Amino acid sequence: MSTVLVIGAGGVSSVCVHKMAMNADIFSDIHLASRTKSKCDTIAASVKQRTGVDVATYEIDAEEVPAMVNLIKKVQPSLVVNLALPYQDLPIMDACLAAGVDYLDTANYEPKDEAKFEYSWQWAYHDRFKQAGIMALLGSGFDPGVTSVFTMWLKKHKLKTIRTLDILDCNGGDHGQAFATNFNPEINIREVTAPARHWENGEFVETPAMARKVEFDFEGVGPKNMYMMYHEELESLAKFNPEMERARFWMTFGDEYIKHLTVLQNVGMTSIEPIKYKGKEIIPLQFLAAVLPKPETLGETTKGNTNIGCIATGEALDGSGEKTFYIKNICSHEAAYEETGNQAVSYTTGVPAMIGSAMVVQGLWKGDGVFNVEEMDPDPFMDMLNKHGLPWTVEELDGPVNF
Ligand code: NDP
Repeated sequence: MSTVLVIGAGGVSSVCVHKMAMNADIFSDIHLASRTKSKCDTIAASVKQRTGVDVATYEIDAEEVPAMVNLIKKVQPSLVVNLALPYQDLPIMDACLAAGVDYLDTANYEPKDEAKFEYSWQWAYHDRFKQAGIMALLGSGFDPGVTSVFTMWLKKHKLKTIRTLDILDCNGGDHGQAFATNFNPEINIREVTAPARHWENGEFVETPAMARKVEFDFEGVGPKNMYMMYHEELESLAKFNPEMERARFWMTFGDEYIKHLTVLQNVGMTSIEPIKYKGKEIIPLQFLAAVLPKPETLGETTKGNTNIGCIATGEALDGSGEKTFYIKNICSHEAAYEETGNQAVSYTTGVPAMIGSAMVVQGLWKGDGVFNVEEMDPDPFMDMLNKHGLPWTVEELDGPVNF
């Protein structure tokens, strides 16, 4: 039985808070704070209607550390769950340190003025969290999060070492819009327009954005073009599995998405350099994000499945030579919407945020310092995925991937 304070009131937060309320034996007291209190109230009303559970709501600017510390001291949670934006990671970690409370997030820190995300800033907090006797759990969404845990489960139960790893992220959902992103547009477009990077023979190799395309037949979706790109779990997976010869991340994009993104990029709309417009300074990407459909409004119209998983090749644990396994989850947009009022991209992130929170508050995952999910026992997390809406399958493939 524990008290949690969730920060942020977007799609991911909405799913996580609904799922926490459905597990009242673990999360007895749920508090939700964000920049716009009305969004917290909307989530709380839906949770009350669907589950009967009360959620307390607050307005907070998470970048104001003293205000965050006051809120944490007032609520007295055993865990702060950061489901705001990557820009708020460090101030929320500072507040947790000052208040002596555990921390969890789903995305690594990214400065506002540079399209660059990496763990170094958060890993640098390790000694301070250790000295304070508290835990920070980083990257407990789907990717990073479930893909990281999938990989470590394969390494615990199937493979002695991993030689090659491919993470395949397919969103086969159709929202009926010409161009929209499935999570925060600003974060999504910064991620997609960044150069691709993959791990090869002990170092990251950089290639131009969206230059490598492969068609793959995804179960539950059908054939889709997927593009090699950089994704943040590659950094932690390479750190904790340095023996990997190669690790890559692939994401599917439809031709319409690529067409729109190319035009927007060519005309400068995806830039994060401030420009002057009618005497006011604006950032083109933030303006674009403001005119695009809000991800949380796409739930009702999105149909189809997501299919996200890992294909790993390595030496089999049982000494039977080299083996290849494919481990994945397929999630239905319609079912996710029916259960929580949000589409599957928010669902597949919010459910693992709830499960990671359950691991920490129940003491199943513990430690003093800053940890990635790769460092924890995958088994209790994998059990909860099966029970709480993200069932997974594992199969042996005939051989390594040929792309
Ligand atoms: P949204 O943009 O829908 O929601 C973000 C929320 O954070 C909004 O409610 C916003 O407030 C709030 N917020 C922003 N700034 C502040 C601030 N300074 N103080 C307090 N609250 C603030 O994003 P999503 O729900 O789609 O994503 C949430 C997080 O999940 C992001 O960090 C994203 O990168 C991550 N993510 C991780 C994935 C994974 O698999 N690991 C996949 C998808 C997302 P307001 O409503 O006022 O704008």
